[in-house]
Amino acid sequence: MKIERSRELFSKAQKFIPGGVNSPVRAFKAVGGDPLFIKSSKGAYMYDEDDNKYVDLINSWGPMVLGHGNEAIEKAVTEAVKSSLSFGAPTAKEVEIAELITSMVPGIEKVRMVNSGTEATMSAVRLARGFTGRDKMMKFEGCYHGHGDSFLIAAGSGVATMGTPDSPGVTKGTAEDTLTAPFNNLQAVKNLVEKNKDQIAAIILEPVAGNMGCVPPEEGYLQGLRDLCDQEGIVLIFDEVMTGFRLAKGGAQELFGVIPDLTTMGKIIGGGMPVGAYGGKAEIMDYVSPSGPVYQAGTLSGNPIAMSAGLAMLNHLNDHPEVYQQLEDITSYIAAGFQENLDKLGLNYTINQLGSMVSLFFTDQKVTDFATAKTSDTALFGKYFRGMLEHGVYLPPSQFETLFISTAIDKSIADDIIKANYEVLVSLK
Ligand code: PMP
Repeated sequence: MKIERSRELFSKAQKFIPGGVNSPVRAFKAVGGDPLFIKSSKGAYMYDEDDNKYVDLINSWGPMVLGHGNEAIEKAVTEAVKSSLSFGAPTAKEVEIAELITSMVPGIEKVRMVNSGTEATMSAVRLARGFTGRDKMMKFEGCYHGHGDSFLIAAGSGVATMGTPDSPGVTKGTAEDTLTAPFNNLQAVKNLVEKNKDQIAAIILEPVAGNMGCVPPEEGYLQGLRDLCDQEGIVLIFDEVMTGFRLAKGGAQELFGVIPDLTTMGKIIGGGMPVGAYGGKAEIMDYVSPSGPVYQAGTLSGNPIAMSAGLAMLNHLNDHPEVYQQLEDITSYIAAGFQENLDKLGLNYTINQLGSMVSLFFTDQKVTDFATAKTSDTALFGKYFRGMLEHGVYLPPSQFETLFISTAIDKSIADDIIKANYEVLVSLK
């Protein structure tokens, strides 16, 4: 595989951009090799600057749930551009998307648009603090909620990948206000709540974790958290930045029938444009300025181009609920193909899958939390990643990420992925 142009660009990029990239995992540090500079994409495929073609299993880390170059979304964006790129004033589209989101997501009565998942989670936790008058919040080891200071404690995703569990630059005071518990362990949460009685404003989690690889919640776990939060007056926040509009129209909360007080979203909600949102019970959301005292604002929030892309995406998902079965079927097919390959080769690695999220962990342990995810052989994952690239399959460049499957992946492309998986696993034996 020739990647001269990507190499040149990376070398130049490192002179002007820290680490040569605008978001750490893109540098391929955890998997070795030079990062690929991507030029274009269409449907299930991406093309790099050297014109190599890859099946894309990142899909912009989630947003491209319908694959690349969806016509309705592209049309909505080009139409919107004709009116203006930004006003910084209210628009009809913001009302339309807010109404649509509240109709699709069970736990959302009111919603505020922001520009990223990071902004959504930062704002939701501030709101929970303002609403409860309490300072502390609890998160889970291996869950990632963006790069807000409070969340960079025992975080997953790139933070785990880069091996920087607690970032310099986060003050001691902030770290002290962040409590962390292992995922899928209700007793650990109860113990922390007991120890910090009446001090915890919020518990935030990915209801299906994607940032330590795909780790679904165990039976009764989400409901257990819901009950505990009700008893203790704690605001339960589901961070559905990955799962929102991906696992079901109404996200993980619809799938599991557990309704949080607040929900944070991003990725799919912008159809590929920079968008995030947080929403929830009207009683809590009305604490946000200007109806309430908790301040949060944004010059480009509700940007008309982003709203147009988001509306086209969400309208499509709302009008085509069969998308979710399609995603589930094709992802199960891929997971079953991987399992068959492992069986044939006598390998005992672990596959976790829920809906269109799936991870292959290079460990023989059952993966239920970050500690078990970390038993994976990350060096072996690096070799697997590079082998898959050579076979034209672009995976997330870390063991601690989930694949994101799009509707553009049909059976024949799935067969290509399964075949590549087999050939690479054989080469690693
Ligand atoms: N929450 C979750 C669950 C995420 O997966 C991410 C990003 N991967 C974020 C928050 C942060 O979103 P953004 O990168 O848009 O700031």
